[in-house]
Amino acid sequence: MKEVSEGRLDLLDPLFEEEMYLCLNCRACEAVCPSGVKYGEILEASRAQIEQARKGTPKARVLRKVVFGGIFTDMRRFRALSAGLRCISAPRCPASPSVAVCSRCSASIRPTS
Ligand code: SF4
Repeated sequence: MKEVSEGRLDLLDPLFEEEMYLCLNCRACEAVCPSGVKYGEILEASRAQIEQARKGTPKARVLRKVVFGGIFTDMRRFRALSAGLRCISAPRCPASPSVAVCSRCSASIRPTS
């Protein structure tokens, strides 16, 4: 982290990225650190910088924008997506296999082709 902050190591160096994502961010080390280093805060800042620096493919950028900007920020959309995903994975009706039965509401959700 120090080398990155001093410009001696690239933020997107694969080794640095790997190190930043190996940590579980459980912060157990903070409790025993004799110097009182707030490792979790430093780690989160580093990960945020890495994510901002990553360009990614156009598809990944759009997906990230939709998921983090459009779905996770709006509870109604999040619930609608959750319900849709639940129904997609719902078991099929034994009497009519072309119909998915939502396990939560027991309502027929959608016919399949
Ligand atoms: S926060 Fe500390 S103790 Fe937890 S995984 Fe990361 S380095 Fe290890």
